[in-house]
Amino acid sequence: MEVDTGNKALLLDRDGVINVDKGYVGRVEAFEFLPGIFDLCRIALDAGLLPIIITNQAGIGRGYYSEDDFQTLTEWMLGEFRARRIDIGRVYHCPYHPEAGLSEYRRESFDRKPNPGMILRARDDFGLDLSRSVLVGDKDSDIEAGRAAGVGFNIKLLHEPLTASAPDRLEFGTLQAIRDWLARAFAGPVAR
Ligand SMILES: [Mg+2]
Repeated sequence: MEVDTGNKALLLDRDGVINVDKGYVGRVEAFEFLPGIFDLCRIALDAGLLPIIITNQAGIGRGYYSEDDFQTLTEWMLGEFRARRIDIGRVYHCPYHPEAGLSEYRRESFDRKPNPGMILRARDDFGLDLSRSVLVGDKDSDIEAGRAAGVGFNIKLLHEPLTASAPDRLEFGTLQAIRDWLARAFAGPVAR
């Protein structure tokens, strides 16, 4: 019998996974939830995985929107999740970029994906067993960060009909397909 050694998480990129990636989304008016995201989080919670958001936000460093704008948008977004009885564990964001326009944000960061810093902090904050956790991203940098952190299942959302998938990589065309995979992969009795 398998013994639970830690908590499991669904580590979600934000732009292109939770909302339509329109490029540097900093305000509620531009934030459009992707179809299937609430359902995916619901299935994850039912399977014992805590949704956590891990997002690069270079738009702050580039001066396109402020830290306050980001926090305002985040509070609104979390409210939309809560209204559907979905509690997001935490939102980790990285405002830094090596070429940021604002000097206080212009630097390399261990947090900025493809680096694993934010995922490792989530691991420590929530006592996560990353080997039994799932990451969903829409860029190679998301997948690289997950692998570097030791996440067991790193899923790439392609936003296009799936033709062929590399054998060492989990790739899906829609959030609904990821939900179906997750429901199967984490089926059965779950210790909570
Ligand atoms: Mg993305």
